[in-house]
Amino acid sequence: MTPGLFQRYRTPADFANARREELEQAIHSTGFFRAKTRAIQNASRMLVERFGGKVPRTLEELVQLDGVGRKTANVVLSIFGVPGIVVDTHVRRLSRRMALTAHDDPDKIEQDLMGVIPRADWSAFSLRLIYFGRQVCDARRPQCPSCPVRDLCPSSRHGGFPPWMAAHRAGRNGRAGRAGAVLARAAGPASGRIAGRASGRIGRGLTAVPRPRAVPTGVSGRRER
Ligand code: SF4
Repeated sequence: MTPGLFQRYRTPADFANARREELEQAIHSTGFFRAKTRAIQNASRMLVERFGGKVPRTLEELVQLDGVGRKTANVVLSIFGVPGIVVDTHVRRLSRRMALTAHDDPDKIEQDLMGVIPRADWSAFSLRLIYFGRQVCDARRPQCPSCPVRDLCPSSRHGGFPPWMAAHRAGRNGRAGRAGAVLARAAGPASGRIAGRASGRIGRGLTAVPRPRAVPTGVSGRRER
């Protein structure tokens, strides 16, 4: 979809001035096409009016754009070589399974990971978790018996479904949620040393499995948290 789209619309001004129905048609296959069209055109207008038609290179500026949350901003920053932790659904799930965080909120998970992963590895670490979540640590069928980090991951002895995540799911803000956070903290030696070893192992483990064809873009029509 994107090669044709970017051939037709080459600049933020092109997207801003496009006929709404035409743009909706062009991105129809991605789903949520109306909300995405609205966000694309609003963000493009803002790029033209506030940033001279150029994509800004700071997180603070990027999150001002319509439809852009910290996740998408960090994806964009990584393209510019600026380190950032991208917390998508895979990073969120794996960080909690590996007990690198006791939180459920993406912003808090990002802060926790920034505390245990060296800054230079932030972007690579997120990408590794995303690929690893797709290929090994699946949401419904985690492959714990053959997982290259099973001896480091506290969820391996629970088959990938640790009690701290069940408790958290049962009541995010209630007693069960707090119990989940306590269990996760108790289970997780969330140190940079363990996280770094896990990251390296995940990287090596991924060389043995085929790469997915789609590159995660973090672009979503839904509002990010
Ligand atoms: S041991 Fe299981 S839960 Fe832990 S990272 Fe590997 S697949 Fe995921």
